[in-house]
Formats: sequence, C-alpha cells, structure tokens
Amino acid sequence: MSCVTNSVCKLCRRENMKLFLKGDRCFSDKCSFDRRPYPPGQHGQSRLKFSEFALQLREKQKAKRYYGLSEKQFRKYFELADKSKEITGTKLLKFLELRLDNVVYTLGFANSRREARQMISHNHILVNAKRVNIASFIVKKGDVIEVAKASREMNKVLAAIQAVSRRTVPGWLDANHAAFTGTVKDLPTRDEVTIPVEESMIVEYYSR
Ligand code: SF4
Repeated sequence: MSCVTNSVCKLCRRENMKLFLKGDRCFSDKCSFDRRPYPPGQHGQSRLKFSEFALQLREKQKAKRYYGLSEKQFRKYFELADKSKEITGTKLLKFLELRLDNVVYTLGFANSRREARQMISHNHILVNAKRVNIASFIVKKGDVIEVAKASREMNKVLAAIQAVSRRTVPGWLDANHAAFTGTVKDLPTRDEVTIPVEESMIVEYYSR
C-alpha cells in the first residue's frame, strides 16, 4: 500500500489510538503507543486546541490509516456510501469492514491488514472456492473465505492463527481455524464495528 510506511507506530501516536498495524507486536509490551501515548514530535505532549476542521480531519485520517487505505480509495468509499440509502457514516464503515483484506485479518489468517493484502495479491486466499487476488473485493453474507490448501503451512498463517486468541473475532464472522476457513454469517451492524471513530465527523469533513 502506498500510504503506510515503516514508521507506522508514529501513525498510532498521531491518531491517539492503536491502529494495529504491526501484527502481534501491537498486543505485546513493545507497542510504542502503550509506551508513549502522545503524539510524536517536539510538541507531542503539549495540550493543543483543535479547530472543528482539525478534529474532522483527524477522524478521517484515523479511519483511513486503520484500514490502510490511500486518500483516493477512502474517498471512493465515502462517495459510494453517500449514494446509498443507509446512513452515510454507517455505510462507509460497513464498506471498510467488508473489504476482503479486513475480513482475512479479522478472521485471524493474517497478522495485519497489510499482511492480508499481501496474501490476497499472492493468490493465497479463496472466496467461495475461487481465487480472489483483489484486496478491495467486498464480501457478502454467506461468502466462505478460505486459505488456499497449498498455503496453509505458511509460517505467517500459522503464527496469525496462533495469535488470534489475543483479539476477538466479531459475531458477524464465523472462523474455523482448524479448517482454515471463515464464513460471513451476516453483515456487520454499527455496534459490531469496533474502530473508535466518530463517523459523523468524517461525513462532515467530506461535506464541507
Ligand atoms: Fe500501533 Fe502499537 Fe501496533 Fe505500533 S505496535 S502499530 S504503536 S498498535
């Protein structure tokens, strides 16, 4: 992905939340945000007052970085959500949650969304028994996601499955780690989307 660099931990500190960009490290005591929970830079620990616009921008950046998207990709989801009949902010979050890279990560077959994207582009993931190599593929209710048979012994897959006990698989997904499969039981409700973001502020940001 173009927008995520090596200094990803700085992004968590900038957004004042854990974005879970470094796999298992995010759940360990090596997490930079847990050690230094304030923005990076010289003025990181000063109390700053933010304008309404700055707050909206931060919410947008937070969600964009959490899902590892570029501005262009993120805006495209906003525009699609804006055209839908659902509440724009809720629909936006649903689009983001239903991306295949997010689902592969959430099911526990990858240690991060970035790793999930790599697995998908390298043909390690099947949806309904067909290879899908597009990370932005939107899954739907009833879809079965599967790690390809030849990829099940990969160290990173086994490590991710081992580590998934540190986080919970949400109720709208059903993971079967023994079979390397997962099913989209239902579409996520707003309550099941756990990113601590004020989506109404993102809508306000793009509606200026
Ligand atoms: Fe963020 Fe901590 Fe993970 Fe670094 S280790 S990406 S600071 S959650």
